[in-house]
Amino acid sequence: MTTLYLVVPCYNEEAVLPETTSRLTKKLDEMLAAGKIGPESRILYVDDGSRDRTWMLIEKFHRETPYVTGIKLAHNRGHQNALLAGLMTAKDLCDCAISLDADLQDDIDALDQFLDKFHDHCDVVYGVRNKRDTDTFFKRASAQGFYKFMKLLGVDVVYNHADYRLMSRRALDALSEYREVNLFLRGLVPLIGYRSDYVYYDRQERFAGESKYPLKKMISFAIDGITSFSVKPLRIISNLGILVSLLSIVGLLYALISHFTGNTVAGWTATVASIWLLGGLQMLCLGVVGGYVGKIYSEVKARPRYRVEEHLKK
Ligand code: UDP
Ligand code: MG
Repeated sequence: MTTLYLVVPCYNEEAVLPETTSRLTKKLDEMLAAGKIGPESRILYVDDGSRDRTWMLIEKFHRETPYVTGIKLAHNRGHQNALLAGLMTAKDLCDCAISLDADLQDDIDALDQFLDKFHDHCDVVYGVRNKRDTDTFFKRASAQGFYKFMKLLGVDVVYNHADYRLMSRRALDALSEYREVNLFLRGLVPLIGYRSDYVYYDRQERFAGESKYPLKKMISFAIDGITSFSVKPLRIISNLGILVSLLSIVGLLYALISHFTGNTVAGWTATVASIWLLGGLQMLCLGVVGGYVGKIYSEVKARPRYRVEEHLKK
């Protein structure tokens, strides 16, 4: 029997928790009755240092309802860290874990499909949104621009996939080997490389409470995503340096011609030529230093270098 853990990070979610708990409980009951999951399956709430009654509610549901368990973080560490804490707790207790938001914007009727794919031997199943009608225009445009930009920088992210995702126990084990501090799970999970598939669903509106992701958090999340996965910005500096150095040669020729045709102020030629040349050289040097910094950066991360997917034994 498959033991399923639903990992739900919660930050100041007292407004949604009662409803979320009853909906998830109902869903788990149905799946249990249908024989899709085993009786050890649980909802694992992660209280991300909330300042309202979230933890009290989690404790209450833990006492009063069959499925609910929870962990409490000492501080507010942000969605990604809270999620990781939950997944790492679930890792040793479950066969597979599905992460979802406390506001149930991700359609929980898709849970059956996640499990079907899991039973089909997928280690990772990504939930992908069909359309983004319910988002504001700004959120939609910024999110889609972000995915495209990430692709451009060579980061492998699944288009329109947030953190609604199933991971098998061994995928979670693999995830635990990535020790980086600037966490961007959407970029990390594809690096695990086990068999994966997609489930499509419609995203609903938050049914109560407010978004805990203000613009400021969204921007720093996006920047984290880029700088944790790509050293291309460093390479761009290098290339820019080469370009400016080449241009400076053209500039030098122009300055010399102007000098000899005589229509310049004294001293102009040397000044202009050196500004361009030095500017270009400086950028190039920065780029070279950046190249080494990039290497240090990936060494310091100490990500696992390979993963054995299968092992044939006698
Ligand atoms: N969340 C969290 N810590 C934070 C911010 C958010 O654990 O610092 C949780 C929040 O409780 C919710 C999920 O992350 O379960 C997604 O947040 P939200 O629904 O506010 O984001 P949005 O859907 O607006 O992007
Ligand atoms: Mg939400």
